[in-house]
Amino acid sequence: MSIMVPSRTPALITPGRQALDSALHQLDQAAEHLGLDHGLRTVLATPRRSLTVSVPVRREDGRLDVVQGFRVQHNVSRGPAKGGIRFHPGTDIHEVTALAMWMTWKCALVGIPYGGAKGGVAVDPAGLTTRELERLTRRYVNEILPLIGPEKDIPAPDVGTDEQTMAWIMDTYSVSAGYSVPGVVTGKPMTLGGSLGRSGATSRGVQIATLAALGRSPEGVTVAVQGFGKVGALAAQYLADAGCKVVAVSDITGAVYARGGLDIAGLRTWAAERGGVHGYRHADAMPLDDLLELDVDVLVPAALEGAITEANAPRIRARLIVEGANGPTTPEADEILAANGTVVVPDILANAGGVIVSYLEWVQNMQAYSWSSGEVELKLRDLMESAFSEVKSLAAARGLTLRQAAHVIGVGRVAEAHQMRGLYP
Ligand code: NAD
Repeated sequence: MSIMVPSRTPALITPGRQALDSALHQLDQAAEHLGLDHGLRTVLATPRRSLTVSVPVRREDGRLDVVQGFRVQHNVSRGPAKGGIRFHPGTDIHEVTALAMWMTWKCALVGIPYGGAKGGVAVDPAGLTTRELERLTRRYVNEILPLIGPEKDIPAPDVGTDEQTMAWIMDTYSVSAGYSVPGVVTGKPMTLGGSLGRSGATSRGVQIATLAALGRSPEGVTVAVQGFGKVGALAAQYLADAGCKVVAVSDITGAVYARGGLDIAGLRTWAAERGGVHGYRHADAMPLDDLLELDVDVLVPAALEGAITEANAPRIRARLIVEGANGPTTPEADEILAANGTVVVPDILANAGGVIVSYLEWVQNMQAYSWSSGEVELKLRDLMESAFSEVKSLAAARGLTLRQAAHVIGVGRVAEAHQMRGLYP
């Protein structure tokens, strides 16, 4: 399969390149299952548009730094491109391409009329002041301005970005347009046209997927969550609210464990005040990576790609893994987990709640209308549960893992859209 990335040398095998390799492997498996021809496979393996930009940012001390930014639209055959923007020092064009590709399959899988995109800036937001972050965001948006728009490509938050970032993007775009364009981003503050239920949507989706996959009462089910950020902290909260016992969580500052279950609300307050879970008094500290290997019923990786690899997969004891993060499991680890009978609810299904409610936010913006939280929650639940049962049925019927089945459905729908549209000219 030919793809638009440089040839591999050891020096170029970044975590981003590994993520792209994983994404291409998953696509290849689905394409094989669907019997897609070489030409169509190549189209699906290749991003439609990739933009790399240099973003100059004036620091408070007068210095000028330049960082790299990216926006990749992987596929737009089913509708406008949609995908988050990540601020992380390790991000690169390969990672952004992989994340954009997963967005394409995810939107098709849950049946929303979007293609997939992703953006990133190779910067550590924790190392910038708020004013520097605002200048960086506005300049990055200015550089990618020709690509984005409510009918073309709609960004949202991801790692290292939040509602405030989306507000700056909406303002920068609107100033350039000459009028307010709330539909250019989702995950906005409520006051700028955000949707009720968006901030917790990805985590609510993780909860829905976990309960569906458990297929039994969640009461007392033990859970470990890697990554106590926007997705992980609320996923832990919603799972605890449902009756699960969340015994361990981690973030980049450390991991904490309490055999009897953590007080997630207390831990969220602690982490918000201190910048992380490290030092939380009512739990024991544990090494970061040990969390993944705990003897729990459910493991929720909700940090970054490549957390579960062939190195640690044989030691994973959770019987159910629900991927809050994108790409946390490598293909090699997937094989080991499948052989051990571990069920993995894949990212493109498990964390689709975010893009589902982003879609609902965009629909509300395009109509200049807003729905109640009950309406949003109902639509989210409906789309998540339908997608889950479709994936489960296909997996059972064809002897596939849930990831393979999810990709067969997602890739199949995008391939069908290409075939129906034909090739221009
Ligand atoms: P975030 O920046 O809010 O949180 C990321 C968390 O991971 C932070 O708490 C960070 O400290 C932690 N972390 C990083 N490296 C770690 C490590 N080695 N061990 C333990 N913790 C570590 O980002 P987020 O928005 O919560 O995104 C997390 C994941 O979910 C990403 O893969 C993202 O692409 C995916 N996702 C996010 C959304 C969304 O709506 N925000 C939607 C779908 C998928």
